[in-house]
Amino acid sequence: MMAARALVHGPQQPAELLFRDVHVLDPREPIDARHDVRIRGGEIAELAPPETLERLEAEELVEGQGRLRLLPAFFDPHVHLRTPGQEHKEDLETGTRAAAAGGYGAVLAMPNTDPVLDSAPLLRSLRDAAAREARVSVGFLAAITRGLAGEQLTEMAELAQEGALGFTDDGRPVESAGMLLKALQYQRLCGGVLALHEEDPTLSRGGSMHEGALSAALGIRGIPTVAESTMVARDAALAGYESGRVHFQHLSCTASVEAVADAKARGWRVSAEVTPHHLLLTEQDVRGLDTRMKMHPPLARETDRQALIAGLRDGTIDCVATDHAPHARDEKEVPFERAPMGTTGLETAFAALHTGLVLGGVLELGLLVERMTAGAGLFELPIARITPGVGANLALVDLDAEWVAGEHGWESRSENCCFAGRRLTGRVLMTVAAGGIAYRERACSVVAA
Ligand SMILES: [Zn+2]
Ligand SMILES: [Zn+2]
Repeated sequence: MMAARALVHGPQQPAELLFRDVHVLDPREPIDARHDVRIRGGEIAELAPPETLERLEAEELVEGQGRLRLLPAFFDPHVHLRTPGQEHKEDLETGTRAAAAGGYGAVLAMPNTDPVLDSAPLLRSLRDAAAREARVSVGFLAAITRGLAGEQLTEMAELAQEGALGFTDDGRPVESAGMLLKALQYQRLCGGVLALHEEDPTLSRGGSMHEGALSAALGIRGIPTVAESTMVARDAALAGYESGRVHFQHLSCTASVEAVADAKARGWRVSAEVTPHHLLLTEQDVRGLDTRMKMHPPLARETDRQALIAGLRDGTIDCVATDHAPHARDEKEVPFERAPMGTTGLETAFAALHTGLVLGGVLELGLLVERMTAGAGLFELPIARITPGVGANLALVDLDAEWVAGEHGWESRSENCCFAGRRLTGRVLMTVAAGGIAYRERACSVVAA
């Protein structure tokens, strides 16, 4: 049963690599210094002082010039790969290619597919497909309720046995407190984290943006922040009551951060994530009614953004998640109120956060790397480390490289990225996932083929 709970990835060649004189940064070791790093048979074989290791015949040489950073590969606990059923938006191959291009070594896919991932046979077939097609490691969360309808629990124990890493109705809240309580009781038997999309639909009422002066001025129905924060507080209390384990998805406002801090102070087993767009954008970015800025929860006020940054810094918020949500062009090219919610994010997350927060002097690089890798631990998976003897999960980045997001297209099948057209600083040059080279940047001169 435990073996089934591992991540899956497609077939790959174990990497034979020598990173010469790269600046290794792993906040957990901790290491923040120049090293030579040898990868043999897909494993980190050796760390040595810079310019001391000789290249072996079978090895590809990567020259870091003391400048390129070698980081543990990132982990995203929240992506929508859209398969089965919506392959015109994304599939396992394109979604994991986008992940690899963003420096991610592993992602967790959401079950709001068509059909919904709510049965063991479908989970089995998805895991088989990932073992053929996935460029990086993939894990699957199964639905909490059948069809995400909120009325009947799924066969959680059977799904856990088949390899579900947790449960979520993401895209929708679990509206009924009684239903969530029941799910928490089943969790006791079968394990797995309950990941929660928090939204009280009687408060959000089909709104399209943050409720406030701007939504009033634009004449667009708003969603008040209490639609999220009251549900966070409710479900934290339920988790506390049942001694259950819940993870709050895509926090967006001050009151939610406070509710999580309060729950943690009481010793309840809760964790939380925040997206790059909620850390970097506000409702002001919605002013032009660009549908790429329409997502759930909506971008809120500057004070909310500051609270999210503070929460991420002090650990109230445990990790960054992209909520990568691809949509086809014709679905997004409609009036703002009719457009579906969601932005892609895998390919821009690190660069956008590096540009906006690290270069902005708001967050230290090591802490950003910690928060972009911590999601694995929350789902009881090993966190990528740069130390001899472990499988190689690595991201090689050039922190000085400038690029315009989307300028040369996307690896994702969809292009609804809220950061498109922005000048970003920091570029992923190579990603090693589960021991194999999952991505190399096309124009990268230091990484010869
Ligand atoms: Zn959601
Ligand atoms: Zn989502």
